[in-house]
Amino acid sequence: MPVKHTPTAIIHSGTKGGKTACGEDTNKHPSHLVNTNEKLSCREEWVWVKKY
Ligand SMILES: [Zn+2]
Repeated sequence: MPVKHTPTAIIHSGTKGGKTACGEDTNKHPSHLVNTNEKLSCREEWVWVKKY
């Protein structure tokens, strides 16, 4: 399930308690991340998604 980084409103692929697909550690600021069904908006992950 994607997670939203609320301070930036960027949607990352990943789960709370782990790492996002772009390598962010969600344990650093767990209060900044909420589960969401919105489309990914993390540019680094767009590249990753296209590749695979
Ligand atoms: Zn990301």
